[in-house]
Formats: sequence, structure tokens, C-alpha cells
Amino acid sequence: MRKDSGWTTNKNNITICKSCFRNRGTKPIDCSQIKHLEAYKRVLMLSNIRRKANTSHFNLLAKITREKSRIETLLHYGGKCSCCGYDDLNKKIFGRSFLQLHHIEGRKNHSFTKHDNSGSHSFHTKLKKLGYPKGLRVLCRPCNNGMDYNESVCELHKWESSK
Ligand SMILES: [Zn+2]
Ligand SMILES: [Zn+2]
Repeated sequence: MRKDSGWTTNKNNITICKSCFRNRGTKPIDCSQIKHLEAYKRVLMLSNIRRKANTSHFNLLAKITREKSRIETLLHYGGKCSCCGYDDLNKKIFGRSFLQLHHIEGRKNHSFTKHDNSGSHSFHTKLKKLGYPKGLRVLCRPCNNGMDYNESVCELHKWESSK
């Protein structure tokens, strides 16, 4: 390092500022050297970029994990609508799975599902932990909306087959 560079090294051979004697990457305090401020800003910017990259990487991994567990759960409960047979596990409408889990006898009759949202990741994880207990099945959204508890055919498909 040149003598006039504005930097020097401390006894641990770390580059420090000649003006405030702080590490190049730490915030300059009472420092007359503009270079130190610039170096510090550069370090800050790089760490911000790194943090953002890590966050989006982490979010992507979390999303993949959620999707895997959603599909795994649906497959365990038959993988298709038990009324009409619709089987596109990847289909989403308004960001939500077109195939859903349905509580055959109603939500409140299952102690393990009482407080859960049946589309949530935590619910899927819970079911897996419990070894996929009975009492649930897969229905597509329209069939789910049009079916009462303990029925096996929705109103739409009852009507359609009665014509
Ligand atoms: Zn259906
Ligand atoms: Zn149906």
C-alpha cells in the first residue's frame, strides 16, 4: 500500500483509515478522508445486494417446499377430484389450488383439523406428521362448493346426470 494512499495497516495487518483509524468497511467517524466514506458506502451497497439476493433465493426455496408438500398431500388423498375426476394438481386460480382438501364429515368433526386452513402449508405438514389420517378427500373447487358433508356427488353433477 502506498504511503499517500490514505490507508495504513494495523498490527493485525488489516487496512485502516489514516484519518480515523477505523477499518475500511466500518462507518467513518470524525474522519477527514472522503475515500473512507466512499469505501464504506460501497461495502454497504454490496451487503444490501447480497441480502436481497439471499432473500429472494430463500423465498423461492420456501415456495418450492410449500408446493411440494401441497402436491404430496393431494396425492395422498387420491390426487384428483373424487366427484368429477379433475386431476390437474398444478392448476391455480386466483393464486389458489384448484384442487382442494375437503373434510368429508365437516371440519369440526376432526379434532386434528379444527383450527386449520385446509390449504395452508402448516396443515399439510401436520397431516404428514399424523400419517395422513382418514376423513379428508380431494375435490375440485366447483365440486367442493356444491357438495354437502357426507355426500359423494356435488349438486352440479347430480343435476347433470339427471338430465
Ligand atoms: Zn370436481
Ligand atoms: Zn362434481
